[in-house]
Amino acid sequence: MKNCLKITQIASDAQERKLSMGEKMQMHTHLMMCPGCRAFVKNTDTLSQMMKAYKASDDKNADKK
Ligand SMILES: [Zn+2]
Repeated sequence: MKNCLKITQIASDAQERKLSMGEKMQMHTHLMMCPGCRAFVKNTDTLSQMMKAYKASDDKNADKK
């Protein structure tokens, strides 16, 4: 699927900024057709949550120092 690179890029960007309506539509449409990118986005979400949890515990540790 030729859009995969672009979609994975958008999915990564989504962790750092708000997506435009066009980007959301593009991603949504592609994800309906592409199991590979669905898996990627799912992993990205999981990774993002893990990073947030890690950062939160890191902040607590920083307070103790
Ligand atoms: Zn794809």
